[in-house]
Amino acid sequence: MTISGARIPFLDLKDQYLEIRDEIDAAVLRAVGSGWYVLGSECESFERAFKEYLVGEENGYVVAVNSGTDALRLSLLAGGIGAGDRVITAANTAIPTAAAIRSVGAVPVFCDVDPKTWLLDPAQVAKRITRKTRAIVPVHLYGASCDMDPIRDAAGRRRLVIEDAAQATGAEYRGRKCGTIGNFGSFSFYPSKNLGACGDGGAVFVRSRKDRDLLSRLRNYGQRTRYRADTAFGMNSRLDEVQAAILSVKLRHLEAWNRTRRELAASYRMRIAAHGIPVAVQEEYEGASSANHLFVVKTRPSIRDAVMERLSSGGIQTLVHYPRTLDRQPAFSAFRKHPNPVSEELCSSVISLPFHPYLKEADVGRIVERLGEAVREFPGRAPGMRRNRRGRADKP
Ligand SMILES: *Cc1c(COP(=O)(O)O)cnc(C)c1O
Repeated sequence: MTISGARIPFLDLKDQYLEIRDEIDAAVLRAVGSGWYVLGSECESFERAFKEYLVGEENGYVVAVNSGTDALRLSLLAGGIGAGDRVITAANTAIPTAAAIRSVGAVPVFCDVDPKTWLLDPAQVAKRITRKTRAIVPVHLYGASCDMDPIRDAAGRRRLVIEDAAQATGAEYRGRKCGTIGNFGSFSFYPSKNLGACGDGGAVFVRSRKDRDLLSRLRNYGQRTRYRADTAFGMNSRLDEVQAAILSVKLRHLEAWNRTRRELAASYRMRIAAHGIPVAVQEEYEGASSANHLFVVKTRPSIRDAVMERLSSGGIQTLVHYPRTLDRQPAFSAFRKHPNPVSEELCSSVISLPFHPYLKEADVGRIVERLGEAVREFPGRAPGMRRNRRGRADKP
């Protein structure tokens, strides 16, 4: 198979760095040269700036931590969620969502998603609630907001809503930023996320000073002041000064990057429609505005892997977010209590196309053309497909 044109990687973080190199380099040197490396002024000013980005002058606090996983874990701990408590989340989310729930001893209840938005289905959430349910973790998957109003209604006053906004920095729902709607909002600054550090990082958004203080202690050994531990389950989960300085620089560019993501996603959609390519794209809830973290198309289970192979041999790198529902992961299969058919179908038919703010418009054109060719090559069952790369039998 010949490769026409340059290879198109799934993600390229280098171009972003090169464009803002002077600002990043200056921030790194400032942080390293300060002689103060954790819980200092860089972290504080990033927390203030991120809080302002999320809610402006409204009440609220950001507590920066070491990762998105820790942001979820610390939110659960701060919310008093522990052994045996049931926590409802989406079956098609990333592993860390469930890993965080398990890490506090709670039991994940995997719930199915809506067939159009691919996000936690509020009606099914309501059905899964029992007396043991202590929290709901809606996941704003691919950057698109969950339907937060009915999810909050389902939670009522007795249960917490902890938003997993790891993929949704900048997304909105009915005039509010995702991550500021529930009781806790957790963010990830993993390098590939919309706001990514040059290493690991994360943050929690909360409304009350009490929650802020509790989270601040939890991330720092459970200490209120130096050498005085008064909070159990304390850990070390701090955002270091170098990452905080880098994130403060990148935060200033986030809106522009998210705008470019929106334009590129619109271009993908427009071209897919114009070519009449038989794939589905994610739909949004009324009043929601996606942060467009990924651009994902849904094919059919019988052809998904073959289409990816064709794109790969055409020099186009694609990924799958995610290839298995979490209740089919060895670590969580004990918590599989009921089928989640929509999530299952998505896991075996989605493809994430190359997507980042430095992707070229011309590349979007080439990707969509190749996608169209590949999908049309397999009108029914893909020929010669017996087992896919993950060793599962391909479904007919
Ligand atoms: C990335 C991600 C996380 C975890 O964030 P880390 O910073 O990598 O720990 C959690 N949930 C979702 C949905 C994610 O995409």
